[in-house]
Amino acid sequence: MSQSIGHYIGGRRFAGEGTRTQPAFNPATGERSGTLSLASRADVDRAVAAAVQASEGWAVTTPLRRARILNKFLRILEERTAQLATVISAEHGKVHADAVGESQRGMEVVEFATGAPHLLKGEITENVGSRVDSHSLRQPLGVVAGITPFNFPAMVPMWMFPVALACGNCFILKPSERDPSASLLIAEWLKEAGLPDGVFSVVQGDKEAVDALLHHPDISAISFVGSTPIARYIYETAAKHGKRCQALGGAKNHMVVLPDADLDQAVDALMGAAYGSAGERCMAISVAVPIGERTADVLMAKLTPRVGALKIGPGTDPEAEMGPLVTKQHQGKVIEYIDSGVSEGAKLVVDGRGFKMQGYEGGYFVGGTLFDHVKPNMKIYKEEIFGPVLSVVRAQDYKEAANLINKHEFGNGTAIFTRDGDAAREFAHQIKVGMVGINVPIPVPMAFHSFGGWKASLF
Ligand code: NAD
Repeated sequence: MSQSIGHYIGGRRFAGEGTRTQPAFNPATGERSGTLSLASRADVDRAVAAAVQASEGWAVTTPLRRARILNKFLRILEERTAQLATVISAEHGKVHADAVGESQRGMEVVEFATGAPHLLKGEITENVGSRVDSHSLRQPLGVVAGITPFNFPAMVPMWMFPVALACGNCFILKPSERDPSASLLIAEWLKEAGLPDGVFSVVQGDKEAVDALLHHPDISAISFVGSTPIARYIYETAAKHGKRCQALGGAKNHMVVLPDADLDQAVDALMGAAYGSAGERCMAISVAVPIGERTADVLMAKLTPRVGALKIGPGTDPEAEMGPLVTKQHQGKVIEYIDSGVSEGAKLVVDGRGFKMQGYEGGYFVGGTLFDHVKPNMKIYKEEIFGPVLSVVRAQDYKEAANLINKHEFGNGTAIFTRDGDAAREFAHQIKVGMVGINVPIPVPMAFHSFGGWKASLF
């Protein structure tokens, strides 16, 4: 069934005035599932106007009342997690358990935001001068916008809007055009929870919608998550137009495996971190760095059969560990990366290029892929592949591994597996990466901690 997917503005669905559209596909089958309206500048203007109108009332709504609406929204999300996950899976392709997982991680931020009244208290100092007191207030910015990537269509928006709304801002979400539908459910459920019309809107679209947001004088701040070239562009353009901006970019996350590590535990961790969600995670581990030839040989011997035995299937298959990639174009790009690894001389140990899913021949599947003897000058090492491809780079000692990571363009996340407390501490304190895991596959961000990468992973 093919459906029309539009915007959500002023408390209702809105088809949009823009004439441009884009097809939506089910990545497991390759069949067309809908037609997405791409917002024009006029559509963005309409959403901003609705937000400006709503913002006066929302900014003076008491913090407790705002928190209660978010609390009600949280209850709705808890009851309907499976429904949200089904919508995510149908457009993104990730397996149902992963879609439930991302929804739950997003809900943690909503839960955190319900405690915002405590954080919104200002500060006061008595008697800064003779009989003069000084105080600071936390005030909403007004209308703010979020621009989000395809890989977490519910969680990444939920990193942004719950806190923005709890603090009294109106929020405009521009979700990824590759999986736009989760955002519309979210908008409807926020309204059901009692959010006034115009406080939260969704504009679907591409560069045209993004540029309209970046240039709009009534938008005070932009939060972005996506690839590094676009993150850089968003950051520079938003700053040029006088907006506050945070822009999270891409990643190439390394896992160092020291000779004293529990290798079974490291292999379990690598399987989830490299191949979960078909590698389409900003915190995916895409490079393993075993220290010493013996560690590398044992790691490869344990890893190879596991990669070959990955259970791949459509998101609806409860047995599947990994689904298809998001689009046909992305599938082609990942296959090109594997071709380039072969032509540059890396050893292809498990090849996912020929993988075909019976009954789903039109789906955008790539099988789990494993390279050994990858060198730092190779394209598959330098660039973010964002697919189920793990590169093993053998290092002779810890120093060589740390140098590799420190020199890499990206610095989002990294992990080390070791039983040596000193080595773990040294790694956590010295490595030039934003989020560091010790004996855990992915140092997943928590709602109540600040998070983000370093270097080209965050602007
Ligand atoms: P993307 O950069 O292609 O798209 C992100 C957003 O930017 C989308 O909403 C898209 O519509 C918009 N966009 C795309 N091209 C644009 C252009 N030329 N001008 C203006 N806007 C444009 O990213 P993606 O492929 O959707 O997501 C995957 C990327 O996101 C990966 O690089 C991944 O590492 C990154 N990511 C990072 C984090 C993090 O926490 N650092 C989290 C999730 C994803």
